[in-house]
Amino acid sequence: TMSLAASDLFESTEKVTLIAKVVVLAPMAEALDYAVPAGMVLQAGEHVIVPLGHAKVRGLVIGFETPEPDEDLSRVKTVVARLDDPIVPEASLNFWLWAAGWTLTPPGVFLNGCIRALKIPRAAPKQGYVLTGEQPARLTKARQAVLDTALVPMGLGDLALAAGVSTGVVTALEKEGVLQKVDLAREEVYPQPDPDFAPARLNDSQAAAHQLLQMEQAKHAFAPVLLDGVTGSGKTEVYLESVADVLRADPEAQVLILLPEIALTQAVLGRLEARFGVEVAQWHANISNGNRRRIWEGVASGKVRLVVGARSALFLPYRRLGLIVVDEEHDGSYKQEEGARYHARDLAVFRARLDGALVILASATPSLESLTNAEKGRYAWIRLEQRHGTAVLPDIALIDMKAHPPEKGPNGETRWLSDRLAGDILATLKRGEQTLLFLNRRGYAPLVLCKACGEKMTSPKTDSWLVEHRASGRLVCHLTGFSMRKPKTCPHCGAQDSLISVGPGVERILEEVRSRFPEARAEVFSSDTTPDAASSASLIKRIEDNEVDIVIATQAAAKGHNFPNLTLVGIVDADLGLKGGDLRAAERTFQLLAQATGRAGRKLKPGKAVLQTYAPEHPVMQALQHQDRDAFYAYESMSREVAKFPPYGRLAALILTAKDQNLLNKFSRELALFIPNTEGVDVYGPADAPLALVRGQWRKRFLVRADRNRDLQAFVSHWLAAIKRPNAIRLVVDIDPYSF
Ligand code: ADP
Repeated sequence: TMSLAASDLFESTEKVTLIAKVVVLAPMAEALDYAVPAGMVLQAGEHVIVPLGHAKVRGLVIGFETPEPDEDLSRVKTVVARLDDPIVPEASLNFWLWAAGWTLTPPGVFLNGCIRALKIPRAAPKQGYVLTGEQPARLTKARQAVLDTALVPMGLGDLALAAGVSTGVVTALEKEGVLQKVDLAREEVYPQPDPDFAPARLNDSQAAAHQLLQMEQAKHAFAPVLLDGVTGSGKTEVYLESVADVLRADPEAQVLILLPEIALTQAVLGRLEARFGVEVAQWHANISNGNRRRIWEGVASGKVRLVVGARSALFLPYRRLGLIVVDEEHDGSYKQEEGARYHARDLAVFRARLDGALVILASATPSLESLTNAEKGRYAWIRLEQRHGTAVLPDIALIDMKAHPPEKGPNGETRWLSDRLAGDILATLKRGEQTLLFLNRRGYAPLVLCKACGEKMTSPKTDSWLVEHRASGRLVCHLTGFSMRKPKTCPHCGAQDSLISVGPGVERILEEVRSRFPEARAEVFSSDTTPDAASSASLIKRIEDNEVDIVIATQAAAKGHNFPNLTLVGIVDADLGLKGGDLRAAERTFQLLAQATGRAGRKLKPGKAVLQTYAPEHPVMQALQHQDRDAFYAYESMSREVAKFPPYGRLAALILTAKDQNLLNKFSRELALFIPNTEGVDVYGPADAPLALVRGQWRKRFLVRADRNRDLQAFVSHWLAAIKRPNAIRLVVDIDPYSF
């Protein structure tokens, strides 16, 4: 398409009657004007090829203007061609442009990401067979059956099957000229979810919650709801009924269910299929290219009415969304950290406002932002306080590791599980029940160092530690993917066999479990042992079938699963997430541990959770132990309010990166001189970014804090416009950064 003949420059003899505003898919700040050639019919949301400099580039038409009679149009170029891609519905186009502005991303760059699926070539049309009218030279029973069947074009396999003959009969008839091949119409058929396929029988509190949701939905205008209920209370069942309500009430409306990528497991997808009777359209990192294009087109045409997906599913070209569900709304994976940085939950709420839709944010441990919005009445707040059925929340015990440190093993080896936790594991094994040991650290040990010279093994050109993976015998950088065989001699001082592994990862816990409970069947559940959907489904099945006694898991397994026989959860290092100065460290730790401990006793058997901590007095541990969520949120809310940090203020991070450290330092200091003096806005920095060196690039950071009523984006744009940035320095702006 890019080699089309150009009707390039508008010729002044022809009168321009219409100007198209086109967002060119390139890093430019504004839409550009192009003359619409006579005879070309265009509408907003259409895809065009336009000249830009000496190149021809793709663009999206976002609107039109009629030129003034005396306007000088000699420099206006002409649209080269209209592309045959699905029109982007107005609501989605508006949303994309708004999101570009919100994230301070050039609109062309943002839109380019949204239409990426269209760059995947369409599947070649399928071929089918039809009768030509020629009579066969000889007629057999099989041949007659084909003649009787081929009344509409059919594919080879289908035709042979329908006629009850082998495919050879069909191809022979084609050779004789009795049948001919034609392209089958490429009309995609999308299975339609049936809202009445298998409605849930809600318990009383679920029914009450559902009724409240129906009342919100009846408002028929933007209705944000926090669906706040303990794990296992049946939130999913409730929101699936709202999905059904919307599908039923309005044949035009579309529904999006957003899930954290990690939760998009076969179990959840199977549950949706069981409820709505068809496989629901999915959108996440692991779908095939063919499906990607197919679903994109189906959403644009309105034929796909229900999508379940990870964060980027928010940017499919919906015509009109009637409902967006953001499940596990507190989850950090809703934050996109590369390219245009956005928070899918926050943008989902905005999209719902544009479309006048219901938006359900569901969580057992809401983000402080959403909880505050609910408390202040900005969101409706629907609570489910009890687990469904007879399941009860687990008992939670803290083990003070200062008072009860793990003893050394018989060979003097370090142990990580205290005797009390080990005792609980043994008791659970004896009852024939399952244990989950949770440690959010992949591999064998997070750090390897040389006991001769003290040097740490770090990733080349990156200031992060290499993680030892003993199963593969390698040292791996989790940040850049770099890996190397674990060396026999220290690369720094050359000492033999001097490298020691410091601290535990899940593999090391497995080693300890195997030596202390040799009779137990133990397995690691992490992204290393379950790299794809098939391996994770198979491990989940083995756990469900009681073929595993002890599961040692990273957060890959902490969420979403209901293992009926799992009654003990042990948190190996409850303090892990609290280290480091991150704003959300406490909140995230609370959420993760509440989720992980919530895995115990999900069905009929009562559960128990044990947390190993060196800080039992910490508000996070206290709140977990006493199952006093409100106490934690009150503490957290107070500390944020004092600092006027989110949700009591707004934040943006500016990350500057460059190969040349001196240049970076110099420019950072210069940039600091241009910080506008604005009341209610504070700028901190420049400081080293938390990862000061990545892949040979140095990183500096500014943090901008603004009062809620300040226009943070305008402040940042204004500041950055004041000084020219050298090309050798890259700048990323992160509005509402999640972790830093
Ligand atoms: P949540 O989303 O709040 O964690 P789920 O919706 O996953 O809770 O429900 C937890 C478990 O209870 C699931 O196994 C679910 O199938 C079951 N459950 C919830 N509500 C009902 C109901 N009304 N009838 C039967 N089973 C239910």
